[in-house]
Amino acid sequence: MWTPFLFISIMKLANAQINWGDRSLNIDLTSPIDISISIKDSRVEKSASAWYVNGPRFEPVRGEGFVGKVSEGGPVNFTDVYFNPHGHGTHTECLGHITFEAESVDRQLRREPLAPLLPCLVHTVEPVEVGGDRVVLKEHLPDLSELPTALVLRTIPNSDKKKSQTWDNTNPPYLDPEFTLELVSRGVVHLLIDLPSIDKEVDGGALLSHRVFFGVPDSPRYNATITEFIYLPDIHKDGFYALNLQVAAIDLDASPSRPILFPTR
Ligand SMILES: [Zn+2]
Repeated sequence: MWTPFLFISIMKLANAQINWGDRSLNIDLTSPIDISISIKDSRVEKSASAWYVNGPRFEPVRGEGFVGKVSEGGPVNFTDVYFNPHGHGTHTECLGHITFEAESVDRQLRREPLAPLLPCLVHTVEPVEVGGDRVVLKEHLPDLSELPTALVLRTIPNSDKKKSQTWDNTNPPYLDPEFTLELVSRGVVHLLIDLPSIDKEVDGGALLSHRVFFGVPDSPRYNATITEFIYLPDIHKDGFYALNLQVAAIDLDASPSRPILFPTR
């Protein structure tokens, strides 16, 4: 039954507040913006991929009279999935991506769970040409001496092609390590970007921005994450949002993830 009490509870649920520094932001929980890109069976539909790995494959389990596909007469859909977390779809990684010791983003998030809503800045940058590369430089930094825990970097050009692009051998834009270092010193712990990497595609294994962001090897940041392959349409403007970041429970350095932004007022 629709009672005044229920109505008030729902109203409270629809709006929440998040504090960041001396800012107090009202969050609109009724307007979630999903910035993840799905992993799809590449033989059916293309989705974003990189790093020269074969496209994802979804294959029904078959054997001993069983087929894991209802449309082929099986009792259930029961599918093996072949994909690479770094190469396909939105994923979140921890420093384990570049450390000798195995570190898992899943284990880290169980040790130190993320707040359900993180203060987040969306910031759009247009990489500039440097020696034939397109690079995000210190001059692209947001005009704030302190940054919120989470930063979404949207790169220009921006279109929904990012949801299906194959990035192999395209030398995508990347972050200059000085830019990345400045993000760290201004307080960013969770970095999200709409590119396959924050480093140059072919850099001889240097991974300078990853090393700077994760503090590897000198001051490892176990709680830091980088989320790659997001897509945020232009209709959502730059500014402050709240971020909910959920990562699939796979015990690996990187795992598929679903970042959701909520607008603030
Ligand atoms: Zn990755």
